[in-house]
Amino acid sequence: MVTIGEFGRRSGFLPPYIVRRLHESENASLHNIAFDTRELDSGARMAREVRPARIMGRAAMPSVGPQRKVYDLAGNLDPLPGTLSRSEKGQPSGVEVVEEAFEHSGITYNFFKKVLKRESVDNAGHPLISSVNYGVHVANAFWNGVQMVYGSGDGHYFLPFTKSLGICAHEISHGVISFTTNLAYSEQSGALNESFCDVMAVSIEQWHLKQNAADANWALGREVAGPGLGQIDGFRTLTAAKAFEEHVFLGTDPQPKHLDGYDTTSDDHGGVHVNSGIPNHAFYLAAQELGGNVWERATPIWFEAFTGLLNQDASFVDAATATTLAAKRLFSGEPSYATAIADAWRAVGVQSEV
Ligand SMILES: [Zn+2]
Repeated sequence: MVTIGEFGRRSGFLPPYIVRRLHESENASLHNIAFDTRELDSGARMAREVRPARIMGRAAMPSVGPQRKVYDLAGNLDPLPGTLSRSEKGQPSGVEVVEEAFEHSGITYNFFKKVLKRESVDNAGHPLISSVNYGVHVANAFWNGVQMVYGSGDGHYFLPFTKSLGICAHEISHGVISFTTNLAYSEQSGALNESFCDVMAVSIEQWHLKQNAADANWALGREVAGPGLGQIDGFRTLTAAKAFEEHVFLGTDPQPKHLDGYDTTSDDHGGVHVNSGIPNHAFYLAAQELGGNVWERATPIWFEAFTGLLNQDASFVDAATATTLAAKRLFSGEPSYATAIADAWRAVGVQSEV
């Protein structure tokens, strides 16, 4: 059973370090956007969710297809989910944000189904519910335990969060984790939880765009940066680079890419959105070394490890060990894969135990 508290303390795609920075901005519009966005973190609207036993069976489910419903909150914060605007058999709504949420959750569903053989978040056809136009000027998106919720930004600094396939994929991946290893949302296990969602998000984008590991962008969220923010690579990137640097409003991307830079802050549940940079970069390095299409090599290995081989309180060392083991299991004919993965973790300062 997942309590309100567990999910209520969780923040959205845009991490607290960015929201706080905007809140402190002398730019009144950004200050107000941040103020409205902080609503998300109150936890008051998080769902109470009854979860089945920890690890769902991996048996193939009969394909039922996506069960999508998109609701429009029309600027309200509650009650969720809002007014039904688009469903699986219904006509297109003509509302851009509604159609974006519908489309992106469909792509995400198809990726989990076709590539990873998982039938929605619970492997049992859990409906993919989205609510759009959450509040006024809210610049964030989140998974509340049972569904996605998207703000539409202000249109100048932030565009609707439905615009990003990666953000939709990230939030749905939180659902996958909650139905599998349910990684505790604090410190290293929380950073692994965040990292898994970023890893799935970049994998889903690359799969959709048919980009190989060498050609891909590897950053997330650039689609929601409006003209007022100017062009940025994204709000975080899995490469060694900074997603943004000395940006007039955002400052500099704080994510470390090596354990030496681990942030021991108590903010953000022990820096889950900051320290996720370390396992994210291990995935990036492993994917580059394995080459080809990420969804055919590194992604299934990470998925196997993160949804099946980790305990709720897993550490970075556990993740390094589990992904190395998963590589041996899934690619027994390619022993170089396990070696490449252990090397990738070692390069970010984490030693696999196998
Ligand atoms: Zn997240």
